[in-house]
Amino acid sequence: MSRVVTGWSYFGVRNPQHVAEDLDDMIRHHANAVLFTLSEEDVAFYLDTMRELVELAHERGLLVYVNPWAWGGVFGGEAFSGFLARNPDARQIDSAGEPVPAACFNQPKFRDAMLRWLDAASHVGADVAMWDEPHFFVFEWDTELAARKGRWTCRCPQCAIRYREQYGGEMPTQRTPEVEQFRHRSILAFLDEMSREARSRGLKNSVCILPPTFRLDDGLLRYEDVFALEAIDYMATDPYWNEKSDATWVEQQYRQNAQWLLRHATASGREPEIWIKNFRVRKQQECFIPLATRISYEAGIRRVFAWSYLGSAYMSSLRSDDPLSVYEIQAQAFALCHEQAR
Ligand SMILES: [Zn+2]
Repeated sequence: MSRVVTGWSYFGVRNPQHVAEDLDDMIRHHANAVLFTLSEEDVAFYLDTMRELVELAHERGLLVYVNPWAWGGVFGGEAFSGFLARNPDARQIDSAGEPVPAACFNQPKFRDAMLRWLDAASHVGADVAMWDEPHFFVFEWDTELAARKGRWTCRCPQCAIRYREQYGGEMPTQRTPEVEQFRHRSILAFLDEMSREARSRGLKNSVCILPPTFRLDDGLLRYEDVFALEAIDYMATDPYWNEKSDATWVEQQYRQNAQWLLRHATASGREPEIWIKNFRVRKQQECFIPLATRISYEAGIRRVFAWSYLGSAYMSSLRSDDPLSVYEIQAQAFALCHEQAR
């Protein structure tokens, strides 16, 4: 395999016959890896089908990632959570005492559910478990709950118990430095446990953090602490542009985040990894794809992935203006990475 790892995420198709054709197509477009989303629905209804898809990818020499796509509402992704419907008592509770549609990292039921996800990831034969954008609930991202902006999570009974154990008092309703620290430590402890469990099942671990330069309110105070976790192999981020971004923004954000990743990954002996936006790419933004890929490569990143296959043509909410063009442009950018690495 080339020293460069390139590939797309893949979802929405579970028919092995069609997936085989798509995998061949990806390989012709300079991919040597693929990320299959492994949602709650996949684990409940497609488990052996997913195993078949991973086999198809392995037969073709592709490295296979899986991610807990939107599991419990705490990871990135466009999938609904059955866990939340069945376990309302495991939801995060906000600072005003109201639940939000996301599971709490500290709830044993959710941790058990994630262990079952890891069993599934191992059963399907994946190589890498990718922990995608783990975060405490971000109110601004939720159109229905955006009005609660200013609140924070989590003050569920389990968090109250753990807070008392760690800080020796009642958990405040105000956002104190101790509360910030507690949130940070809660995500770290979760990732530490999950990544060790993944490793014990023979999986490598990639964590994709939200871009450090975005300074989002996800609960993590120092992203570099994630690198310090023992079982993390790859550290990724995804500085996706929005509809208003221009080329200068893309250049700056990819450069800063790529350099940040490289600095911390090298210091901790991990490999950096970056994601390029291949969804909702407006026609005039297609030139951002080779730009972001080139900047990441030049910064020293050798694991470059794009979200998602075919410019996300098959999911209308994510579809790019000209998805096939996005796909071809990303493929050319991947090809250039492989050529330069020779
Ligand atoms: Zn909680």
